[in-house]
Amino acid sequence: MTVRPSDQPASQALFERARSVIPGGVSSPVRAFNAVGGTPRFIRSASGAWLTDADGNELVDLVGSWGPMLLGHAHPEVQAAVQAAVARGTSYGAPTEPELALGEEIVARTPVERVRFVSSGTEATMSALRLARGFTGREVVVKFAGCYHGHVDALLASAGSGLATFAVPGTPGVPASSTALTLVLPYNDRAAVTAAFAEHGDRIACLFTEAAPGNMGVVPPEPGFNAFLAETCRAHGALFVSDEVMTGFRASRQGYWGIDGAVEGWVPDLMTFGKVMGGGFPAAAFGGRADVMSMLAPEGPVYQAGTLSGNPVATTAGLATLQRATDEVYAHLDAVGTTLKDAVTTALTAAGVTHTIQSAGTMFSVFLCDGPVRDFAAASRTDSAAYAAFFHAMLDAGVYLPPSAYEAWFVSAAHDDRAVQVILDALPGAATAAAR
Ligand code: PLP
Repeated sequence: MTVRPSDQPASQALFERARSVIPGGVSSPVRAFNAVGGTPRFIRSASGAWLTDADGNELVDLVGSWGPMLLGHAHPEVQAAVQAAVARGTSYGAPTEPELALGEEIVARTPVERVRFVSSGTEATMSALRLARGFTGREVVVKFAGCYHGHVDALLASAGSGLATFAVPGTPGVPASSTALTLVLPYNDRAAVTAAFAEHGDRIACLFTEAAPGNMGVVPPEPGFNAFLAETCRAHGALFVSDEVMTGFRASRQGYWGIDGAVEGWVPDLMTFGKVMGGGFPAAAFGGRADVMSMLAPEGPVYQAGTLSGNPVATTAGLATLQRATDEVYAHLDAVGTTLKDAVTTALTAAGVTHTIQSAGTMFSVFLCDGPVRDFAAASRTDSAAYAAFFHAMLDAGVYLPPSAYEAWFVSAAHDDRAVQVILDALPGAATAAAR
């Protein structure tokens, strides 16, 4: 294990222990700091915009559990709602009012007519894919390089040798047969979409896209791109699946759809949600057109289920979060984001570091390369070594950034002036570190 100056003894000891029982010491790969080097911080507690690590360091959090913590950590009213829910029992395996109320809130904010709860974003996309195939009676799925839809076999695919050729597995363990019906296209590339549908249109069940990609850094769709995808799918009898697991209730009150679809007047056939709508608990959902959703068991023949789906504690947390995700909250995220983006630009420019900042609603990310970054090939040019230096300098100064150069920075309603000031103070030194 390489020890870095920012490593901390208690976290180091825990990581050593963890690596002997958990592969890589972590329950999800990006937490391991492999992309930036060093030892991951073990987190003991969190409150508002702050994390406290195992060594007692207080860190301003810009990861926000990778998106869910829109209101900040341990929000008192969300906590009280959760505690009351726990006191009523934690799971019954029967329908409950909290899941119904959360479903109503999602239907009120988005264009979906029906919604089904699951426990993770991966389950949401996996189920949406099965439903799309069941509804259309077709098998091919189209996705974009750099868009992540969870670790579903068919969607963990890399582009094949040509634009309209089928994909190859993105990881060992995925059989070639699982990606043999997946087409992977370059993002923001209308010609590639047109060509793929021209060749395979009558076999395509659905096209998956992140409403605004946030998993290759933030790469917003070019104007009209999502509308073009929706129209192309419609013209070929395929379903348009907009994955809002990350952007949902984060990019705006209505997710990224509130920024484009609601304005331009189109709706996805299916949508997937997670992160914010679980309020920090394992809850996710997929939803969409009533006629498509009615194909799901028990109403229809497409099987889908889950022991903990719609769990009363998780859906109570999600509902309590969404009820407090007001216009003021989104205005605050916008304001804090603008302050941070300006300060990052100033610091990196002063240090002579080439960079590009891109936004999708209240989401943003920093690429250490020139822009615009419109697809995965461009995102891959970001200087990962410079980011690692930047990341560790920020961590030393008390700011917990995503431990990967390809992630959005997540602010919360709890990022107040004190938290923001810590970030602003850290930036010039981190920019100098990135310049070396
Ligand atoms: N879809 C998108 C857009 C995501 O960002 C993620 C996770 O980051 C997923 C799906 C998978 O969600 P989960 O990690 O809850 O399985």
